[in-house]
Amino acid sequence: MKAESNIPSPYVFPGQYIAGSWRPGRHGNVIKDANPFDGKVLLEVVGADRTDLDEAYQTAKTAQVAWEHTLPGQKAAILRNVARIMRERKDEIVSWLIKEVGSTIIKATIEADMTVAGVEEAAAYPYRVEGKIVPCDDEGTETRIYRRPIGVIGVISPWNFPFYLSNRSVVTALAVGNAVVLKPSQTSMVTGGLLLARIYEEAGLPPGVLNVIVGSSSEIGDAFVTNPIAGFISFTGSTSVGRHVAQLCKTGKYIKGIALELGGSSPMVVLDDADIDMAVGATILGRFLHQGMICMSTNRVIVDSKVYDQFMKAFVPRVKALKYGDPNEPGCLIGPMVNQDQFDLVIDQIKLARKEGATEVLGGEPVGMVIPPHIFTDVTTDMKIAQQEVFGPVITVFKVNGDEEALRVCNDTDFGLSSSVFTQNEARGVSFARRVEAGMTHINDMTVCDYPNTMFGGEKNSGIGRFGGEWIISEFTRDHLISVKRTKKQYPF
Ligand code: NAP
Ligand code: MG
Repeated sequence: MKAESNIPSPYVFPGQYIAGSWRPGRHGNVIKDANPFDGKVLLEVVGADRTDLDEAYQTAKTAQVAWEHTLPGQKAAILRNVARIMRERKDEIVSWLIKEVGSTIIKATIEADMTVAGVEEAAAYPYRVEGKIVPCDDEGTETRIYRRPIGVIGVISPWNFPFYLSNRSVVTALAVGNAVVLKPSQTSMVTGGLLLARIYEEAGLPPGVLNVIVGSSSEIGDAFVTNPIAGFISFTGSTSVGRHVAQLCKTGKYIKGIALELGGSSPMVVLDDADIDMAVGATILGRFLHQGMICMSTNRVIVDSKVYDQFMKAFVPRVKALKYGDPNEPGCLIGPMVNQDQFDLVIDQIKLARKEGATEVLGGEPVGMVIPPHIFTDVTTDMKIAQQEVFGPVITVFKVNGDEEALRVCNDTDFGLSSSVFTQNEARGVSFARRVEAGMTHINDMTVCDYPNTMFGGEKNSGIGRFGGEWIISEFTRDHLISVKRTKKQYPF
């Protein structure tokens, strides 16, 4: 097979990706991308300014027209190429996820595989953008509903699962005929943006359909959201920035659509008939995978007093035995915090939990940027540590009496993303789950669950909007009513 001459292997990233070209930004500030585990600088990129941003949006607007009218089979073929390249370059992707954002091998591998699954799912979407004809009471009129892409979608993504989360918006937006301008977090400029640009470029996506802008949020953040070409903003990140972005979406030249996938404080409930061994395993992976830096991560485990001692007896030693440290080490579950700000935030939350009177049954001093696993018991809902999102390897354990108290503690939060309940009685689990205030509740599984073909999304301060299958197809397209009058109508004037 003929080798691709213009595609480097491994990929190099000479800066911004705008209109199918690679070049430095015009802002002049150098943005450093560093390995959080050893501090080594991996890449330096000259940041984008607002003229770069305008150019990206303009080129996306122009390119979108032809992309929308590209045959579904041709769009699908490009997306299948994307999936193939991701498989072929999996080692390179995994390596970047480890060195750029401190992913362990376990997490990076899960993320790479989930991303391919998401692309394969989306490759069918070009065929699923369907309209309908609706009955009409006006004689001789046919009312048709056409389904069409929004146009240009602005995507803002976080650093924690950057490859998967950026791609989750990008691939689905493209699949239904939109063009995209993507702004990854500066902390994950490669895995959240530039690496995807390389892959889509190699897969044959026409220039301008996907553009990636790397820049400081204070310089281009607000302008990214208010740009009139962006018909819709798909934001994944913290609740505080999401709130700001939502306000901006209503204040620019045009009021625009928005989907917000925000923070969480996911509860895991262990009822008195739970399979304790399984519940312990789910708590460990659901909390400590990626050192707790996942939106669906189990922040709180709520255990019925009848099985509390049994749960803790199994849980604490298994957590104590977890391997933490160098994310390149096979079997390591807890790697470094992604940057100094996140490290400081979690250390402050640990101090807060102690100050509020929670009992630290497991702790330890950080080694470099790595925080060992922490377990706090005797936690009550009035404590701040119980109310905040903890984006680190720290779990709070609640002891409750019966299902009603478990439910009260479970719902006593401003967030509502994921949740789970453990019971060996399926009917009891479903009836409990139906009263949980969350977008997603898993019975006998961990809170960290995401299937690309089904619904994903949160309630309360965890956001608005839904991903997955028919939900994202609907989110990233709009209905257009076109009525056809076939008979001569007598107008009164
Ligand atoms: P963040 O600080 O809110 O940043 C998210 C994105 O917004 C980044 O690209 C960031 O860029 C950008 N940004 C910051 N200020 C902006 C502004 N004024 N205008 C436009 N963009 C702006 O969140 P994070 O720290 O990256 O990620 C962690 C948070 O994301 C957690 O709360 C987590 O729960 C949440 N999350 C939610 C989901 C979900 O699906 N519900 C998934 C993953 C993560 P810079 O970083 O370059 O400033
Ligand atoms: Mg970094």
